[in-house]
Amino acid sequence: MLDSAGSCKLPVAGQWIEDLDNMPVIDKYSGKVIGTVPVVGRETLERAVVGAREAFAAYRAMPAHRRASILARAVQILDRRKEELAELICREAGKAWKYSVGEVSRAMETFQFSAEEAKRIHGETVPMDASPTGEGRLGFYLRTPVGVVAAITPFNFPLNLVAHKVGPALAAGNCVVLKPASTTPLTAIRLAEVLEEAGLPPGVFSIVVGPGDTVGDWLVTHPGVAKVSFTGSPPVGEAIIRRAGLKKVTLELGNNSGTIIEPDADLDDAVPRCVMSAFANSGQVCISLQRLYVHREIAAELTSRLVDSTARLVVGNPLDRDCDVGPMIVESEAVRAELWVREAVAEGARVLIGGRREGAVFYPTVLADVRPEMKVMCIEAFAPLVSIYEYERFEDAVRMVEESPYGLQAGIYTRDMRKALYAVDQINAGGIMINDTSIFRVDHMPYGGNKMSGLGREGVRFALEEMTNLKMVVIKP
Ligand code: NAP
Repeated sequence: MLDSAGSCKLPVAGQWIEDLDNMPVIDKYSGKVIGTVPVVGRETLERAVVGAREAFAAYRAMPAHRRASILARAVQILDRRKEELAELICREAGKAWKYSVGEVSRAMETFQFSAEEAKRIHGETVPMDASPTGEGRLGFYLRTPVGVVAAITPFNFPLNLVAHKVGPALAAGNCVVLKPASTTPLTAIRLAEVLEEAGLPPGVFSIVVGPGDTVGDWLVTHPGVAKVSFTGSPPVGEAIIRRAGLKKVTLELGNNSGTIIEPDADLDDAVPRCVMSAFANSGQVCISLQRLYVHREIAAELTSRLVDSTARLVVGNPLDRDCDVGPMIVESEAVRAELWVREAVAEGARVLIGGRREGAVFYPTVLADVRPEMKVMCIEAFAPLVSIYEYERFEDAVRMVEESPYGLQAGIYTRDMRKALYAVDQINAGGIMINDTSIFRVDHMPYGGNKMSGLGREGVRFALEEMTNLKMVVIKP
């Protein structure tokens, strides 16, 4: 809720509130202030969690078809407010217009899937007489909501990654306290308006804004929270799981995604897809293409076509309808990307295009002659830069994709099914995309990482399962 001076209120325990401190939210391209939001203190956080617990008593009893109707109405309202929300995402996240519109469409799908899944929450019977001790008893389990879900979200998808937590949580009958990224809280606040208009009862969804290491930590450690659902960087994820105590925890973390291109790949398909995968949202996507392994036979052709396509990208103001690449979230991130590229060059890499920066805008960058131990290869870059590595043996490329501390998604372009299945078998990741890059995702598939990329899965049905408890019932007649 925004007043004429651009200051927002926060939905906390069924009321729109102000707090003692406020912080500005910046347009990431122009640097202008686009609104201010309250930074919550401990008392307000307490109100949010207690309010959610109180609201839970009634919300968990709401019939599934009514929860589904609220979520379906939210889809219609999101559709009506699509342009306004897309513009807000453009401004507060610096995401190019076409990807911002795409994000609103995806959030609509995420809520639609949530509405549908709300009607499919069920357990199953257990054959009790499989054990002599169970003879004569009837057994079945139910899925019940956990209570209060603390959702903590990153800046790079300020609507759809919030939707991936809020949609399934509400579908299952849980209440939610959300802490959005401090750089992008405004979109989440609009979502609260949408859900209120859709008929969500007061107190079921609250938002707290403030620094992760205070407000986020209070939420993670609060005894009234039953589950923490976090999306963000691996170091913060690790800190959260240590601090959370006896709670359910889901962690959706980062990746240094690799994709392999075999000589039989369709380059007309692969090249534009690789360009989009490396540079959409300025490379700030957890499954952005970062390491591109290309077979020696086609390396020259693929590299030249990739560089030509990269040169045609429109870089600049994300609000321009033809923009491909906007600014990074803050200038310090663009400075970091620039330093990583300089360091790689000092270690022998070549910049084929890009490598330069204007303020927070880092130009799409393609590197060659890289080595596995360079930062641009072995640590998540989260920046518009992709490194090309030539290989001769397919097995070596698969091994290099796998030799990563992360394990979120990977891609392989080949028409040879044996090779595709070899990669599926060898790479320890949450998802393997055949004839696509690491970036492919639809919002109902199971999605999440292994190794340092996280714990648990999202994708509406799978998130919902992790936001419910199993309750076993055994009847002795
Ligand atoms: P981040 O710095 O880890 O922040 C994510 C959220 O955690 C923010 O709301 C942040 O608050 C909060 N936070 C920070 N410290 C905290 C603490 N000690 N306790 C509780 N909360 C805390 O991540 P980001 O820079 O926003 O996002 C980029 C990262 O997210 C990348 O690593 C990317 O790969 C990952 N990501 C993963 C997925 C996935 O689905 N696997 C999707 C998108 C992004 P503040 O904003 O106030 O610092």
